[in-house]
Amino acid sequence: MMYRTRFAPSPTGYLHLGHAFSALTAYELARAAGGEFILRIEDIDHTRSRPQYETAIYEDLAWLGLSWQTPVLRQSNHLPDYQAALERLKDLGLLYADHRTRKGEAEAALSAPQSEDNHETAPANPAWRLSLEAARKYLGSRYDHLTFTDHGQTQKADPSINGDVILGRKDIGVAYHLAVVIDDARQGISHIIRGRDLSDATHTQVLLQALLDLPAPEYSHHALLLDSEGRRLAKRKGSKSLRDYRNEGLSAADIKAMITTAPKG
Ligand code: GLU
Repeated sequence: MMYRTRFAPSPTGYLHLGHAFSALTAYELARAAGGEFILRIEDIDHTRSRPQYETAIYEDLAWLGLSWQTPVLRQSNHLPDYQAALERLKDLGLLYADHRTRKGEAEAALSAPQSEDNHETAPANPAWRLSLEAARKYLGSRYDHLTFTDHGQTQKADPSINGDVILGRKDIGVAYHLAVVIDDARQGISHIIRGRDLSDATHTQVLLQALLDLPAPEYSHHALLLDSEGRRLAKRKGSKSLRDYRNEGLSAADIKAMITTAPKG
């Protein structure tokens, strides 16, 4: 199998140094192995994705010196595939409907009467959750022997870490865990290089790979870049973006040097 890595950002904000670290690591490992680096746009959440952020992803990564195959897979162009997988899991009796309204949504609806015409107060369509109990019955003893490799070490996969996750979202149809395993398989990703913040997600994704008969890639979850106060960088916390640095006159080499010396945890 070809050594193939990917960087799979969601266009919900500008990329920061942590994204640059992930993308560069995946890119350099692929190059060193004589393999391929894939860029994928994870834009299933149309409520949060914005075209200007997608454009910025291409610009910022090219500025860093990365190149990738085109056309780039944009998840919003493949929604029927994720829906088909959801139906397959439903047909196997592995999903159950959840009609509850999320706490945050209920509160938002109460405090924002102008959002009355949103679906938040009384969703007509349910969310679909993966039943771990049904998954365990379906896989039999395989369920208790699910493993994955992280940095070459075999780890036991424990999907109960995340519980009965939502795979069918009532607002946008499908959820990240389902779309990501389908595309990692579709694109023949052999090595998933991503931040430690997604280590827990791997336990669920390994189960989904088993349920959907998908190949199991190898994982390397890397440490996260921290700011000067020791906090993780995050788009929503307003961490400085790559384009902020660029606008201040920094070069791609400066960014790489900052990544090398930045505190990580
Ligand atoms: N799209 C996800 C994000 O931006 C990353 C998915 C992944 O690397 O598995 O957080």
